[in-house]
Amino acid sequence: MSKVIERNLVVGLDIGTSKISVAVGEIGLDYALPAASHKSQMLWFKQQVVLAQKYKLPLVIHCRKAHDQLASTLRKLSFTQGGFIHGFSGSQVQADVYLKLGFVLGLSGALTYDRAKALHKLVAYLPDDAYVLETDSPDMRPSFARHAINTPLNIPRIVEYIAQLKGQTAETIIKNSSQNYHRIILKSADRF
Ligand SMILES: [Zn+2]
Repeated sequence: MSKVIERNLVVGLDIGTSKISVAVGEIGLDYALPAASHKSQMLWFKQQVVLAQKYKLPLVIHCRKAHDQLASTLRKLSFTQGGFIHGFSGSQVQADVYLKLGFVLGLSGALTYDRAKALHKLVAYLPDDAYVLETDSPDMRPSFARHAINTPLNIPRIVEYIAQLKGQTAETIIKNSSQNYHRIILKSADRF
């Protein structure tokens, strides 16, 4: 990576110079966007991952239609800091790959729709240390607020869905999410 690109990324991502950065993100690959952008998305993603590894920071990842490419890039770059895959709705196989790489999966309003059968199965399958709660506010509106602006106030109702799918209490879901969040964020905060 050239020194100029690295310096711009460090400033843009607010890492290195800042003592309060605890993660790099949201970064990622969105292959639902026109194919012409994929090559440059990958180019920038790789450089951001290299920087996160250098500064020992976890990632907050956005990914659409590129889970396999993204996971293999993390592996090729020997990325070991883990992080969050936000708004995850991939397959069980893809989930396992991320979990092995030290990531946890963001569960959001998407799972509140009756038609989201695959996601319901995935939520039921996920171990306790595999997920965090998220809103992606103002996007990813849950079924019960599909015409409103999505806000974190919807999380308790999303928790009820997860609790039912997993046959656990809402308190357990909340406790697991908090522990998983802190496991990843505090690991990077340990640097200071
Ligand atoms: Zn996103």
